[in-house]
This record gives sequence, structure tokens and C-alpha cells, in this order.
Amino acid sequence: MSAYVRIAVNVPNLTGEFDYHLPPELEGRLGAGHLVTVPFGKQTVQGVVLELIATPSVPETKPILSLLDPLPALTAAQIALARWMADHFLASLAAMLDLMLPAGLAQQADVRYALRDDRPQTMDDGQRSVVHRRLVDLLREKGSLRGRQIDRHFKNVEWRKSAQYLVRAGALSSQSVLPPPTVRPKFVRTAQLAVPPEQAEAAMSELGKTKATLTRRQAALRFLMREPADVNVSWVYAESGCNLSDLQELAERELITLRETEIWRDPLEKIGNQELGDQELGNKGLVLTQEQEAALHQILHAFQPLFSNPDLPNYLFLLHGVTGSGKTELYIRATAEAIRRGKQAIILVPEIAITPQTVRRFMSRFPGQVGLLHSKLSPGERYDTWRRARLGLLKVVIGPRSALFAPLPDVGLIVADECHDGSYSQSEPPFYNAVTAAKEYARLCGAVCILGSATPSIVQQYQAESGESLRLGLPQRIVNPEMPPVQVVDMRLELKTGNRGIFSGALVDALGKTLERGEQAILFLNRRGTATYVFCRECGYVARCPQCDAPLTYHVAPFSSLPARPEHVTQEHRDTLLCHRCGYHRRMPEKCPTCGGTQIRAYGLGSEKVETEVQALFPSARTLRWDWETTRQKDAHEIILSHFAAHRADVLVGTQMLAKGLDLPLVTLVGIVLAEVGLNLPDPFAPERTFSLLTQVAGRAGRSSLGGRVVLQTFQPEHYVIQAAAKHDVDGFYARELEERRRLGYPPFSRLVRLEYRHFDAAKAEAEAKRVAEKLQGQLATDNYRLTTLIGPAPCFFTRLDGLYRWQIVLRGPQPESLVRVMRLDNWRVEMEPVSLL
Ligand code: ADP
Ligand code: ZN
Repeated sequence: MSAYVRIAVNVPNLTGEFDYHLPPELEGRLGAGHLVTVPFGKQTVQGVVLELIATPSVPETKPILSLLDPLPALTAAQIALARWMADHFLASLAAMLDLMLPAGLAQQADVRYALRDDRPQTMDDGQRSVVHRRLVDLLREKGSLRGRQIDRHFKNVEWRKSAQYLVRAGALSSQSVLPPPTVRPKFVRTAQLAVPPEQAEAAMSELGKTKATLTRRQAALRFLMREPADVNVSWVYAESGCNLSDLQELAERELITLRETEIWRDPLEKIGNQELGDQELGNKGLVLTQEQEAALHQILHAFQPLFSNPDLPNYLFLLHGVTGSGKTELYIRATAEAIRRGKQAIILVPEIAITPQTVRRFMSRFPGQVGLLHSKLSPGERYDTWRRARLGLLKVVIGPRSALFAPLPDVGLIVADECHDGSYSQSEPPFYNAVTAAKEYARLCGAVCILGSATPSIVQQYQAESGESLRLGLPQRIVNPEMPPVQVVDMRLELKTGNRGIFSGALVDALGKTLERGEQAILFLNRRGTATYVFCRECGYVARCPQCDAPLTYHVAPFSSLPARPEHVTQEHRDTLLCHRCGYHRRMPEKCPTCGGTQIRAYGLGSEKVETEVQALFPSARTLRWDWETTRQKDAHEIILSHFAAHRADVLVGTQMLAKGLDLPLVTLVGIVLAEVGLNLPDPFAPERTFSLLTQVAGRAGRSSLGGRVVLQTFQPEHYVIQAAAKHDVDGFYARELEERRRLGYPPFSRLVRLEYRHFDAAKAEAEAKRVAEKLQGQLATDNYRLTTLIGPAPCFFTRLDGLYRWQIVLRGPQPESLVRVMRLDNWRVEMEPVSLL
């Protein structure tokens, strides 16, 4: 029996694996995936057992201190996935393992800091730097704080070096701590009579010394004599007026049995079974269409172990079908097959709040077997769902990207619905893409993997084309196969005829008719990218960089010369156009360089403005706004959605969220307020993102037999993205965009790594970006990286975030990650396969 284990310790940013020996009491009880505490340096930290080993790699090992949970916290497949992800996404193994442990159970080692009372008088706490001063002020105000608590006050500012300096200088004390797990299983206490009633009756007179005690205990015992089954103690309290110590006394005398039964906190209890009686939702006997039947046939085939060979991509499907074409129905059938084979399924969706219809359909088909994981769960609910998944009590787990990490014992199916969606990419460290990870996880588990979308990404379509996955097509909507006609309105002509408003005559007209018929309309506004790009309203000209053709963006000042305080910005600083690719900048032109017109300006419009405009035009229309501002509160999505679905509003004005899986039969008009917003961003992924959004939004109209139409307003009607979206032409767009990517050398014809540096001091951010770029250039000159190019350094499109200046460098090549592996990039954010370069 092995007496040594290899451990990944849970310390942020630590990459190593360390060997420990087992104390006698743990021998034979530990295996891969167990969560333990170990000594690490001078601290006690949590760690995950990666494997048992015969001989340690160092001569002297320390012992494991304790086992935190008798069951493994991670499966072998999860550990393998974490290793693969750490390597692929250029992250630490500890960070990847941490994604898989439920918050509250996993506790990272931390350091507690406090000001020392005896700190040297000569030392001026505040002199050295802004960070020193802020740290000292914070600790003076709060007493002592843990590192992660300090993080919250400093956002992304690097304060740890300052803290270490102050510790060495004797101004601060530091002590390492391991916070205890903050979640526990939840129990309910029950009581039951343990003796025949006659025996209880006989004991009745000696149950207590005082009259009051006696009465209470007698009442409790009498009640339990009448109740044969286990009873929740709070019921006994309510019926008899007794308390816990009374029951404990009765249990002590062996008259009753007190038990603790584990209960699961079930977030689905709240959702309840509302609407589950619905005919369509619960309909198991649906007859599949021919296309569905053909696709299902292939999927079921992949479940047969004989045919699934992890070295071939025949477990991996790209299910390409418009919204409403019956994809979800296939996910459900595939899930049933996984369950039939004694396995479990993971269903990834962009966001649960936005896809309640999908969730309910799964719940009605697999009652009692579905677990939801999402951001609004309490830590207790999350922990319980996690544990039920671990025990195999849940057969289906549905949730956003993190649901991939549910510890299911034998995963047979992984679905990523709306697989093109940006939310599958985690945009904060540790960076990872859940669809990429899902494909690998399926391979590791021998599971079937289905990526579904109406608009798969260019890379996903290319992978299907080149044989990396199998494409299954569902070409038509089931209920109303006709896609709604799209009317393209040229806003330049509107301007010529004197209409300076937000809405074209055609859209006002269509809105009026829709409202008259008592139907509903959706007005879509792409919020991302408003107020940033500059164009001419008379001819549609967009200002671009003369060096790299990227759209220029509008800023009040050149990036580096912007004064630190907003009140110091003067007229002189205003109106600058900046290229985020190469740093080129110029003053905002007063006249359009193409047509000489004066209507050249930055575009800016919010959904609030659109709503106001609707109210002005149609005072009796009931409007509802669905955007980031109105959905900050808990459950806001559900409330807005159900409100609109119940026809308590006529017009829904919204942003990106409108694009996701909504089925609203009364909506017969979709108005796209300005289609090219988001298109003119300096990002190679902007066309694909915009096309997908426009196509999905347009698909919201005419889902029922009422039919429907789309009015698409634009200043660039000839743009290929607009043209393709207006024709619902996914294949045409793919062909064209793939050529663009080939021409410009972007994925799938290269791979990207994005390196970002943030600093509150603009000059420091710039200097560090330039320093690293120079070092990278040096490497690029060597033979190994001749095919790799460096883009930048340049300020990011969103130049400041949380008060920090952002600079980035993009590496592009066949294997740019190998270059990053040989560099030391402390404090840089390294993102493999970015889905946006903003
Ligand atoms: P998607 O996931 O592609 O949006 P769904 O699976 O939600 O498509 O199907 C769209 C609608 O058509 C749903 O209301 C669904 O119940 C219904 N539906 C799906 N398959 C069939 C079928 N074979 N026959 C009749 N209705 C179907
Ligand atoms: Zn440029």
C-alpha cells in the first residue's frame, strides 16, 4: 500500500505539485480527488490529492494533516481535465482545480495583516507610495484584514508587494490562516417513539421534577404515542410546548429515538412545478421530424461503446439549426439515452435566467433528477447540488459554463447550447473557454458531446467542415418554417428626407400596425460599441486607421496625454480619434472626408432613449425595458420575461439579452434600431458577433402562426454582414467571413493569445507593455517563432476599467502559447483563445 501522495495545494497562482506522506491513521483511506490539509512553508493549506505514489520526489516529506471530506471531492476525470486545462489555457493547476470545488468548501490559504502597535516611530507610514498609504489607512480603519478582503478594497491594484515591504519594515504584522469551510450539510432532527405505548404510559409519572417540566414531557410523549412515523421535532415542539432538551431527556431514558436526517437544499423547490402540466412541455410522445430523426440516429449511434473511439471525433457533433428547429428536443432524447445507460448528462446554457423555457422542459421530462447550478444560488444550495451530483443522485445538471465542473460520477453526455455564445469564455482570470473544455472532458469521459447553435462560430463551423466534428443540420423551424422577411431601411435616405429621429418611417408605421392589432413588438439596440465609433450620417463613411484599417474610436483625449483628474480636461483634449491596433491618432474631422458633409459624429444612443421615443410616439403603448440597468436585481430577468410573455407590455426594448432562447408567440415585429452598432469595433470577431446577434434577434419575430416581420435600420446597408443577416444567410456569411479570416490571418487560420496589463498609472501601464513587447520581439526574431506575429502594444479599446489603464499585446501564430510558456509574465493577464480583442 502506498504511503505517499502527490498534492496540488490550493494557493493562488501556485503551479507546483508536492509530495507528502500519510500518517498511520489515514493509510488506506486516501485516493485521488480527496481534499486534505497539509503544511506548506509556515502555513496550513488545503490541497487535492492528485495520485498515490510509490516513492516521493524529495528525500524528506511532511505528513498530511487531515482529511476534510471522507468522499473524494473530485473524480479522476475531473483531475485529468484540470491538468489539461491548466496546460491548454496557460493557467495554474491550482486555479483549475479550484474551479471544480464548490465555493465555501474550498478554502485557499490566506494571510491576515494588521498594523503593529510597536511600529517604528521614525517610519512615516504614508510616504513611500499611494499604495502604502492606502493600505495603512485601510488597516487603521478596519483593524486586521485577510488578503482576499484587502483585494476587494484594492480591486486590481497590486498591493501585496507593498504589504511585504511594510512587514519587513516592521510596520505590519502578518499571519497565515486557513479559513474553515463555510458550508455544511443541512440536517433535520426527527423523533419517534422507541417503546411499546404501554411502556411509555408506565413511565409517564416520572418524567420530571417540577410540574412544568413534567407537563411538557408528558405532552411530548403522548403526541409521539399517537404518531407512528418519524416526526420533525419542530412539529413536536409546536404540538406539546416541549423543547429540545426535553426530547433529549426522553431519548436518554430510551423512550424515544432522536435522529438526524440529512436533507438537501433544493433550489428547484422554489420554481416548483408551475406550468409543468403544460401539454407541450410534458409531451413525451412527440413524433420527431425526419431531420430530427436522422440527427438523433447519428447521436444514438455514438453512445454505443463499440463505435465511440476517443481518437476519432465521432463523439463530437455540431448541431446546426435555427432557433425553433427542434434542437432542445434532441438534447432531451440524448439525455434520456445517457440515463438509460446509467450515466449522467451536463447541459450548458448561456444563462439560466434567460432560458427558463429550456430548463422547465428538462424538469418535466426528468422529474426529480435535474439539478440547476447558477450564480444566484446560495452557497448552501450550491453545495448540496454539488453533493447530490457527486453521489449520482442527479442525472442531469443544467447551468452556465461552471456547470461543466459538476462532479458527476459517470458523464455520458455533454451539451453546449448556443455554443457560439461569448459567455462560455470566462473573461476574468482564470481564463478558460467552457466549450473547448467540454470537448476535451467528453473525450476523457468517453461521453457524447453536442454543440448546438443557430449561428455557430466561424471556428466551430470550420472544425465541422474539416472533420474535427460531425455536422448535423436542422434547416427549418418546426412551427412556422417561413423565416420572417427582413426590410432593410437605409437611414441615410431618412436623413435626406428630413427625418432626424431614431425611427424610420417604415418602423413607425410597422409599430403602429402591430400595436393596433394587439400584438407585441421587440426593439433591439446593440449597446456594445455605442458612443464610440465615428461615422457620417449622410454617406455612411466610417473613420478608419490609415495604417491598419481598423475603425477609429472616439475619445476625449489622446490616451497618454489625458490628465489624471477629469476636471483638468480642457477643450484642447477633446475630440480625438484613436486606433487601438497601432496607437495612431488624429483630431476628430469637422467635415466628412468622403462627401464633405458636416453630419459626421460619434454615435450614441441608449435603450432608455429608445423607450422614451416609443412613449412619445405611442402614448398608450405599454413599454418594458430589458437591459443591464433594469436587470441588476435578483430575479429581474424572470420578472421582465414573464411580464412580457403574459402580455402585460406591448413593446420590449432591450439589448443583447433579447438574442437568447426566447419563445414569445405574440411577437410579430422586431425592430433593429441600428444594425451596424458593434460592427465597427476594432476587433476581428466583431463581424461574427454582430451577425450572430442580428440573426438571433431577427429570429424572434413570427415564431407562431401569426407570422411576423423585421425592420432593420442601418447607415451601411451594403455591408456584407448586414446583407447576410437580412437574408438569414448563415452559410453565405460563413463563406465570406472565412475568406476574410484567411486573408487577415485570424482564427481558424491561426491561434491567438491576448496579453493584457493593467495599472492605475497610465505611464507605467504603457511602459510595461512596451517593455514586454520588446522582449517578445526579441524572441520572435529567433528561428522558432518565425510564423508568429505580434500585434500591439496598444491601449485596449476599453482603455480604462475600474480606474486602471489597460494595454494589450496579441500574439498570433500556429502556436503562440509556446512563446508565452517561456516568458515570465508576472501580473499580466494571459488569455488563450480570446473571443474578443477589446
Ligand atoms: P430549438 O431548441 O432548436 O429552439 P425546440 O426543440 O425548442 O427547438 O423546438 C421548437 C418548438 O417546436 C418547441 O415548442 C418544441 O416543443 C416543438 N417541437 C420540437 N420538435 C417537435 C416535433 N418533432 N414535432 C412537433 N413539435 C416539435
Ligand atoms: Zn492603426
